[in-house]
Amino acid sequence: MSKKQKKMLFRILLTAVLMVLLHFLPVAKLLRFLLYLIPYLVIGYDILIKAFKGVKNRQMFDESFLMAVATVGAMALAVAKDGDYTEAIAVMLFYQIGEWFQSYAVGKSRRNISELMDIRPDYANIEKDGQLEQVDPDEVEIGTIIVVQPGEKIPIDGIVINGHSSLNTSALTGESLPREIQTGEEVISGCINLTGILKIQTTKEFGESTVSKILDLVENASSRKSKSEDFISKFARVYTPLVCYSALALAFLPPLVRISLLGLSADWGDWVYRALTFLVISCPCALVVSIPLSFFAGIGGASNAGVLVKGSNYLETLSQTRYVVFDKTGTLTQGVFQVNAIHHNTLPEEKLLEYAALAESASSHPISKSLREAYGKPLERSRITDIEEISGNGVIAQVDNLCIAAGNAKLMKRLKIDYKDCHHTGTIVHLAIDGTYAGHIVISDIIKPHAKGAIAALKSAGVHQTVMLTGDTDAVAKQVAKELGIDVVYSELLPEDKVTKVEELLESKSPKEKLAFVGDGINDAPVLSRADIGIAMGAMGSDAAIEAADIVLMDDDPLKISKAINISRKCLRIVYENIWFAIGIKVICLLLGAFGIANMWLAVFADVGVMVLAVLNAIRALFVKKL
Ligand code: ADP
Ligand code: MG
Repeated sequence: MSKKQKKMLFRILLTAVLMVLLHFLPVAKLLRFLLYLIPYLVIGYDILIKAFKGVKNRQMFDESFLMAVATVGAMALAVAKDGDYTEAIAVMLFYQIGEWFQSYAVGKSRRNISELMDIRPDYANIEKDGQLEQVDPDEVEIGTIIVVQPGEKIPIDGIVINGHSSLNTSALTGESLPREIQTGEEVISGCINLTGILKIQTTKEFGESTVSKILDLVENASSRKSKSEDFISKFARVYTPLVCYSALALAFLPPLVRISLLGLSADWGDWVYRALTFLVISCPCALVVSIPLSFFAGIGGASNAGVLVKGSNYLETLSQTRYVVFDKTGTLTQGVFQVNAIHHNTLPEEKLLEYAALAESASSHPISKSLREAYGKPLERSRITDIEEISGNGVIAQVDNLCIAAGNAKLMKRLKIDYKDCHHTGTIVHLAIDGTYAGHIVISDIIKPHAKGAIAALKSAGVHQTVMLTGDTDAVAKQVAKELGIDVVYSELLPEDKVTKVEELLESKSPKEKLAFVGDGINDAPVLSRADIGIAMGAMGSDAAIEAADIVLMDDDPLKISKAINISRKCLRIVYENIWFAIGIKVICLLLGAFGIANMWLAVFADVGVMVLAVLNAIRALFVKKL
């Protein structure tokens, strides 16, 4: 509980005690009023001040204004009739209890999100003369060697140059099993080092590291409003003044009608009381509070499961997803290729692989990484110049002053090189040296273990169609699609063809059904941003993906996609429940109030009761079953 919340709790209790005491104190008129003023001010002074400030700034129609007018009015009525002051105080009291409750709930969901925030490292250790020195992560330059001890967070992305350990990645991925890490492997900031001491050479600045990216993203998430939230704030802008004027009309019109037309007594007190009750009932707090809170809790729950949602609007869109389009490599397959065979080589196999690895030395494409891995020896980067990567084709580079081209058939055609087809099913990397064909390397990728289950899970989550787009050959694409149960495949696409395909799909569906594109962020950033909703998976390594995607899955498990959809559905269901529940009860109470059936007690119970229930319901969005 925060200090503010404790203070409020104290005020609530004090007011309750004072009211009970005063109830048994037999005192005369004026003194009674002055004594009752004490608990009223104890509980309501801040609301009165807020309302006053609102009026002064000409932004008066808010909840504080409603509450202030209603309770001041009720106090005045009580003075006039020498009646009961407890009603006005009780209204304030319950309103404050509701507010307290709500701030507690907001705090609770914020804490869930801040568990993610907890990944913010406070320092980095640098070794100096055998001593560890703690420095601000912001001041660590790229290439610096930092030391991470067991129990510490990895502050900056880098490569382990010494040591092995296991890492707790749960804050990032929602994955509870520790991950083993060896010398030579890349590590990302935000993980907690569990067992061994690691020496890490940083590859990024702190500001560009995963941890900073995630924190930025989470901090900005609540600023992107969903349509429902927009609706609520627009609604409140019209609704509150409308209610105030209605209350005014209720206070004055019936008495005037009674005097002038019917010749009866005006009954001012009665009608003013009804108007005040009407004001209390109409307070839209439950809606105004619980809708953003539901989204907030939904985003918090999702992040706890390793799904980063960049804003409430995306949660809303995701819940309406009916088409899911996948990139193949790295998304449905592991993107780790194994060399199966080398054919038609004019050079020794080892030499061919060496040239391929050298030419691919600068690319982040999974194929390049795999070829470098297969070659296995360190690469002398000074041997390579003039690297040109052609998306969806391959690379061309100068190695030892030879022009090496490595890529698919498209690249060979483009360079007008006579290449040999391969009878194997697999991804083929053709090589040409100085314009002459030098053979090809057959590589194959492995389907991710959960990919098949993920497609099935999407189907049962109500997705109508799954589509796979790939730049790979038709044979490989069909094989993968068949194995996974994907409905439609398009193969041999260039990255720009993928955009065109997604646009075609976007046009052919109805606007209510949303299309999600899932990619790994390597050369598919344009598609990610073109789809109704872009989902990047395992994007922790790729900045472009984090930028371009609307939803980032922290690890690369495709099962997370259906999970994200289910989280969003649950959240939206809660939002709608709250909207209908709150508006429904309001309307009923308003009618009862206008006809004089509901008194102020019922009003305040309805108001606070609805709010408490709506807030409790909103909090449900926070709880997400782990995979
Ligand atoms: P996808 O991710 O859908 O498999 P990409 O656009 O990443 O498609 O790649 C399509 C094809 O282009 C690959 O299958 C490969 O044949 C070729 N290719 C792309 N980049 C490279 C590269 N760096 N080296 C070799 N071949 C590449
Ligand atoms: Mg790709």
